[in-house]
Amino acid sequence: MNIHHCATLLLSLFMGSQSAFADWHQRSESIMGTPVQVELWHSDKLAATAAIDAVMLELRRLDNGLSPYKKGSELYQINHRKEQSTLPITMEMQVLLQRSQHYSELTAGAFDITFASVGEHYDYRQSQQPSPQKTNLLSKAIDYRQLQLNPKTNTLTLDNPNTRIDLGGIAKGYAVDRAINLLSAHGIQHANVSAGGDARVLGDKRGKPWMIGIKHPRQTQGYAAIIPLNNSAISTSGDYERFFIDTDGQRVHHIIDPTNGMPTGAASDALISVSIIGPNGFDTDPLSTSVFVLGRDAGLKLIDRLPEFEAVVIDKNRRLHYSKGLITP
Ligand code: AMP
Ligand code: MG
Repeated sequence: MNIHHCATLLLSLFMGSQSAFADWHQRSESIMGTPVQVELWHSDKLAATAAIDAVMLELRRLDNGLSPYKKGSELYQINHRKEQSTLPITMEMQVLLQRSQHYSELTAGAFDITFASVGEHYDYRQSQQPSPQKTNLLSKAIDYRQLQLNPKTNTLTLDNPNTRIDLGGIAKGYAVDRAINLLSAHGIQHANVSAGGDARVLGDKRGKPWMIGIKHPRQTQGYAAIIPLNNSAISTSGDYERFFIDTDGQRVHHIIDPTNGMPTGAASDALISVSIIGPNGFDTDPLSTSVFVLGRDAGLKLIDRLPEFEAVVIDKNRRLHYSKGLITP
């Protein structure tokens, strides 16, 4: 090979890698109070941009309907109901509430969206928590069984005026599923969508698996584990995501034990990080919150009887534990 050939070969190699690189498209935005990231492969830049635009629009639509803070949201309307206890709800809200109720029943109330009756009085940014008296009083309003859904009339009945709901433990998983479905409809075959601790990947990363990192729960950088995934969802719940340290040195975090309205952590097998792997986010998200509340023993037992799901959990002593399906014999 003469020098000319060599240069041509090098150039074509370089151009080849350039164009392969250019076919990956990525965008990050802040939606639902969390960083949202979309990464996908498409040979056409305009088509890739249109697909990412559609995803971001959908995620903003969901945030506008499900945010507990936005005055116009459907969730806000439910929580700020006046005299009436029966309210009309959208089909989408119906679906979200039904799935939430399913996980409440499956976990005997460890997952309970009415945790918000007390939970709404926590402000993690301002390091504020409700007084013990308030917690005691309002924790009586935590009970998923008083949420009555009527699919015939598309209504929700909530008799206790103190009961509030919050979909923070399930909405992001639902959102990443919606995003992946949209990308599929746009003809995309390789994508990764994440919204904070919830991610779902479509296909593989063109010949290799997507490598999804589980954040180290006590280090600002680095991973506790890295999981190779294709066509799956992974949701992580951690006590490091939203928290403050109170005047007694206690970590006050965002995952609430519905039995007492307080952050979990007292049990000897309490967890600091839970990741659930499964087919879709609408299940892995509520399961990660559920296993976090249940603790190591009851949590892994639950996952071990759900054949489609696996778990990686980290306990208070920073030890990793796995569901049976991840332990090779
Ligand atoms: P995740 O983001 O999936 O880790 O779930 C944590 C979020 O779920 C919190 O920020 C709350 O919005 C919500 N949450 C907290 N405790 C519970 C609970 N016991 N059941 C259902 N949702 C909860
Ligand atoms: Mg979750």
